[in-house]
Amino acid sequence: MTGRPKVNGERLLRRLSEFAEIGKTNAGGVNRQALSSEDRAARRLLADLAIARGFKVFQDAIANLFIRREGRNPALPPMLIGSHLDSQPTGGRFDGALGTLAAFEVLEALEDAGHETEAAIEVVAWTNEEGSRFAPGVMGSMAFVGAAHPDDFQSVIASDGAGFSQELAATLATLPDAEMRPFGTPISAYLELHIEQGPSLEREGLAAGVVTAVQGTRWLTVTFSGSAGHAGTTSLAYRRDPMVAATAALNRLQMSVMPEDDDARLTVGRFSAHPGSINAIPDRVTFTVDIRHPDATTLTAIEARVRSACEEAAISQRCSVEISTSFDMPPGSFSKVMTDRIEAAAMALELPYKRMISGAFHDALFVARVAPAAMIFVPCRDGISHNEAEHVEPADAINGARLLLEATMESVS
Ligand SMILES: [Zn+2]
Repeated sequence: MTGRPKVNGERLLRRLSEFAEIGKTNAGGVNRQALSSEDRAARRLLADLAIARGFKVFQDAIANLFIRREGRNPALPPMLIGSHLDSQPTGGRFDGALGTLAAFEVLEALEDAGHETEAAIEVVAWTNEEGSRFAPGVMGSMAFVGAAHPDDFQSVIASDGAGFSQELAATLATLPDAEMRPFGTPISAYLELHIEQGPSLEREGLAAGVVTAVQGTRWLTVTFSGSAGHAGTTSLAYRRDPMVAATAALNRLQMSVMPEDDDARLTVGRFSAHPGSINAIPDRVTFTVDIRHPDATTLTAIEARVRSACEEAAISQRCSVEISTSFDMPPGSFSKVMTDRIEAAAMALELPYKRMISGAFHDALFVARVAPAAMIFVPCRDGISHNEAEHVEPADAINGARLLLEATMESVS
């Protein structure tokens, strides 16, 4: 069959169902954590589907899986499309799998149509995007761009007791027929389709988001220290109460940071008091702060505001405060050339879309360091993700794949 390549929607939905069987949970989600036996089964299935279509299968030392449809000129760097196959322990069936299987559908659509490309196109399934079994996440893409090496993670132990190195070796052994390739293989560009994991596209009735940037994330741990005392006998004049300082600082930050800037995010997800007794003034209060912003300078300014609010609150209560940073992921922008191509493809397909910033981080953020990259988001029901209830409407999944096919064909010679 020849003609203009066309996404086979029925086949894509069937593949999504097939992969959702691997690690399927009772509540309709998946538990296919990185380098687990379920993850290996999913890789094996994808490799078998690829081999059946005559595509070549490669992997690298961190088990990133590549499926190559050759171009007329094998010397040209390939265009890369894909996502990840690993999931959260109680994850959904679309997070990662949709992007990987839609990318594979692009290869199949080109093959069905007998459409030759000058450069090869490769599908990638990145290793351990989620980071739930082995921390940190996005290991595969970090290794791919040289920001990390598998040896860096040698001593990482999973929550289930498994060692990273052993599980990586066992995963690599699942695909003895895949040719090993070194890190740093050049690519011409990268596109990733992913579910939004937020509610905005669905609420606005849009088919797609053209992702222009990923916001930066910084995690702080704040500890106020004061004096423990009896709740009944210690009058106000004698108190050095870290709880008063902590709540004053948080109240001030929560009333200002997000209300003053729509793009800013500030979340306190953990809070504890020591010794944690109902009738004792605590001597220590610790909480975490997750701050996010698409602009690096503003992110730093927000951190400075957190620090000064905490320091002033500590002084006012004659307490002390210590603030440490435990995680710092700078914001990243995607390539204008690539986002323009996605936008043009959305217009050509008459799909309503908007340009948007990703609130979550993704492999594409690292890949953007070595090649022009961008992402396409599709809506998911109620914005729910990292949850077994995650759901994508079939039409939205298919439209995402159509958009990926168009944008890929525009990007590859
Ligand atoms: Zn994901």
